[in-house]
Amino acid sequence: MEPQKVYIYPHPVLLKKCEEFPKDQDPTDIVEKLKATLANIPSGVGLAAPQIGISYRIFLGPNHRVFINPEIQLKGDTKVGGESCLSVPGATIPVERHMKVKVTWFDENWVEHKEVFRKFEGIIIQHEFDHIEGKTFFERLSKEEYENLSEFFENLKKGEVIHNRYPMQFYEE
Ligand SMILES: [Zn+2]
Repeated sequence: MEPQKVYIYPHPVLLKKCEEFPKDQDPTDIVEKLKATLANIPSGVGLAAPQIGISYRIFLGPNHRVFINPEIQLKGDTKVGGESCLSVPGATIPVERHMKVKVTWFDENWVEHKEVFRKFEGIIIQHEFDHIEGKTFFERLSKEEYENLSEFFENLKKGEVIHNRYPMQFYEE
């Protein structure tokens, strides 16, 4: 499977809530596309289906494990840390996250899992879960902080990226 293009903010596919993946369907094709794409990007720690243009509730989380139709419960204290996103190359944004999440999900063989993830692994899951909800970490910024980034967003739309390169799909209005 070839690595897919990563869709870049503010492409509409990143701003739309994803649908549950139907249980009578085979997720293999989507999972293989996600794995091939993430394996091609050494700096990547997770990848959600909408980031390759597929609006289903599937993502790769810690250790590239497959999460299908996940439900999460936020637990524990919160902490603010810098986060980056493959769909927003070149930005690191402070985001408040819970230090513990309880997750229920299916893997690529439709086996159900229930696990608790802490700290960095839990943060990856919260970030990827936001993607399938159609959110990016910009929704967690104040209006003023967001407006300060307007030039950065204009450059992103034009495909001006000063960053390590991987195949990207830019949004042309
Ligand atoms: Zn992201």
